[in-house]
Amino acid sequence: MSREDYEVVIGLEVHAELSTKTKIFCSCPAEFGGEPNTHTCPICMAMPGTLPVLNEKVVEYAVKAGLATNCEISRDSKNDRKNYFYPDLPKSYQISQFDKPLCEHGYVEIEDNEGNLKKVRLLRIHIEEDAGKLNHDDFTGESLVDLNRAGVPLIEMVSEPDLRSAEEVERYLRKLKSILEYIEVSDCKMQEGSLRADVNVSIHKPGEPFGTRTEMKNMNSFRSITRAIEYEIDRQIDVIEDGGKIEQETLRWDDVSGKTFPMRDKEDAQDYRYFPDPDLVAIKLPEEYIENIKNNLPELPESRKQRYLNEYKISEKDAKIITSSKYLSDLFENAVKVCNNPKAVNNWIISDISRILNEMEIEPIEIPFDANQLGKLVILIDNETISSSIGKKVLEELFENPKDPEEIVKEKGWIQISDEGAIKEVVMKILENNPQSVADYKAGKEKALGFLVGQAMKETKGKANPQMLNKMFKENLK
Ligand code: ADP
Ligand code: MG
Ligand code: ZN
Repeated sequence: MSREDYEVVIGLEVHAELSTKTKIFCSCPAEFGGEPNTHTCPICMAMPGTLPVLNEKVVEYAVKAGLATNCEISRDSKNDRKNYFYPDLPKSYQISQFDKPLCEHGYVEIEDNEGNLKKVRLLRIHIEEDAGKLNHDDFTGESLVDLNRAGVPLIEMVSEPDLRSAEEVERYLRKLKSILEYIEVSDCKMQEGSLRADVNVSIHKPGEPFGTRTEMKNMNSFRSITRAIEYEIDRQIDVIEDGGKIEQETLRWDDVSGKTFPMRDKEDAQDYRYFPDPDLVAIKLPEEYIENIKNNLPELPESRKQRYLNEYKISEKDAKIITSSKYLSDLFENAVKVCNNPKAVNNWIISDISRILNEMEIEPIEIPFDANQLGKLVILIDNETISSSIGKKVLEELFENPKDPEEIVKEKGWIQISDEGAIKEVVMKILENNPQSVADYKAGKEKALGFLVGQAMKETKGKANPQMLNKMFKENLK
């Protein structure tokens, strides 16, 4: 028996850190990083006698996320205490939501392997606080507690077990990420842990009930998630094929060995003894409040894509790639505002910018230059200040050391030679030095012209205006 004899079932619990200015229950900055324990106060350090106050923005952002993922919004919700002990959790309970989450029963649409639309159902979205961080020092063997992250607001988005492969999981996560970016509730920086997923995987034979699941915690890169799922599917099949049984357990994925390991920790068979937090009031949302957020939801990727097809006449394929990321999409629109040439901006993004992002292994949000600079690059080519091959060099420079493209071009001496006298001088020199090619061309070998233009380009380090070169060569070869 092999992989084909089993069906795979996957469900995700996705945590997203909300990009509110302050934490969920105090006014400390929610910002990532900072010297350890500098974004803290008596409330998020859990001093006795302090009281939490719910940050209204957290509710607003969670409702936004719920509406953007087709959820029902609860009019009547509350916070609960989830009790467990861990050194990064100074209160010994996390304020979360148990039986009355803010949002329920939504869905996100993705493409399945056949390219058909498929709904991945969301069971719930609830708000909760993040825990602190333990910094382990391998040298001294000590662990130091940093509470900067304690109290940073999170939403947890729990999917139904509707995913059937690692590819579908990636598509679902990318879609979710793009929605959260569009509605501007999270920066979704996976490398900083702003977006992380617990991945539940099980297998069963067709026609049989779902198998027992294992859960891999806190995954924060697409590559590890894919690898971990593939590994876990194979491991579970091996266990079943050997006559064994899958234990429901929490696993830790290890990127170095490429394996999962059982985690002996806080979560195992734990009774969290949830109860309503007596320090916080119930969350009752008036109808107008929800309506108001709904009416002010920003444009989502799908409708942006449609608009691009109509407004900018770019291809559906390109529109899909550009709108898949809010950052790319904003870059596109704002650069078009500057240069008024959607076709050119589209091409830069789809080809050279995408290639460089891939090579540098960075996300669109990390692009160091802005839309204004990209727009100006397009203008420089459109008004023939530089050739498009110099344009590529300017783009690379924008990634290295972003500044006004005009300045880059001036500094590097890359301005295109469009002066007729200068072009003629080069053409005459090349003709004189290449009598064989001249003879070839005159004998009917069209290709010789390309060679001569190439030589002239080399001579001018790519700066000669290619149209003018072509024309001038032809005139002088008559
Ligand atoms: P818990 O909160 O204890 O982790 P839940 O019942 O809330 O448990 O489920 C957590 C996640 O597990 C959900 O995302 C759900 O889709 C997924 N899940 C449930 N059953 C299965 C299964 N048989 N195979 C894979 N995933 C599953
Ligand atoms: Mg779980
Ligand atoms: Zn605080």
